[in-house]
Amino acid sequence: MLWPGIKKLGKELNLKRTDSEVVGMLRNCFVKIYDGKNMKVFELYVPELDDIDKDEIKRRLDNKKIKNYEWLPSGIKVIFNEYIKPYSIIKIKDLLNDFVTYFSNKYPAQKPQCQHCGQQNEADVYCMDNVSLYLCNECYKKYEKDINYENSEKNIVPNNYLLGFIGSLLFSIPGIFLTIIFFVFLNTLSAISAVVYILLGIKGYKVFKGKITPVGATLIIISGLIMVTVGIIISYSVLILRELNMLDIETLSIILKMPEVQKELTTNIIISYFVSGIYFVYQLNIMIKGWKTNKKIQKPKEIK
Ligand SMILES: [Zn+2]
Repeated sequence: MLWPGIKKLGKELNLKRTDSEVVGMLRNCFVKIYDGKNMKVFELYVPELDDIDKDEIKRRLDNKKIKNYEWLPSGIKVIFNEYIKPYSIIKIKDLLNDFVTYFSNKYPAQKPQCQHCGQQNEADVYCMDNVSLYLCNECYKKYEKDINYENSEKNIVPNNYLLGFIGSLLFSIPGIFLTIIFFVFLNTLSAISAVVYILLGIKGYKVFKGKITPVGATLIIISGLIMVTVGIIISYSVLILRELNMLDIETLSIILKMPEVQKELTTNIIISYFVSGIYFVYQLNIMIKGWKTNKKIQKPKEIK
């Protein structure tokens, strides 16, 4: 999200934008400006930054009573705290212009270092996964090649749904022991172990190279539901057999069919479904990001 104040400032300074920052070159300095919680921030990357420069910048900040700043590798980050009313855009702009004038006069022939290799080669501002970077041409080409390779790898992965599903079930098996421990030894509800089924299911699905898509997510949840049910029934059986103190399958099946036992089983299963459902939605959100977006590296956009 780019707030109107930052957007306006970016426009005035002829900068470009990503989804959350305005970025670009001011003479021979690379700048990014963004909002934080109750603050505005700029990061200025300069061609050189020696102790004399630092003293000079510090003096200018002191003059303006700005205390919240930190040194970056070849740059400075200034934080403008905002209490109740927004920090003046004009003041931020003046300070930036002041710094940029200082550095461009002192190092007229130099440019900032590439943020990947540290060289001062021909470079430009790029945006990768919504993070802006100042990259030299060589590093840009390398990034672009890597990203293209990664994306094509991702797209040619076969679906592998069946294998993924099997992986999901297999990996969930240890979850059953957890359910048993909760039930039989701790005498407590095992809903929390439902979370473990989902977690293990996702892990198993990935290890067996199941493709993360909406179909894959459905398979993981189906596997989770199956394992929750199986886990609870097995745990109950262990509990009953323990009470009986013998391996009597016939009596066990009679007890399991008793209405009150059935009711308890169902209640436990429903609660576990509920807990695992909530957790799965949380995990799903993380996974969606992975399957929706191909990585890309691009130039920042115009500010409209
Ligand atoms: Zn580079």
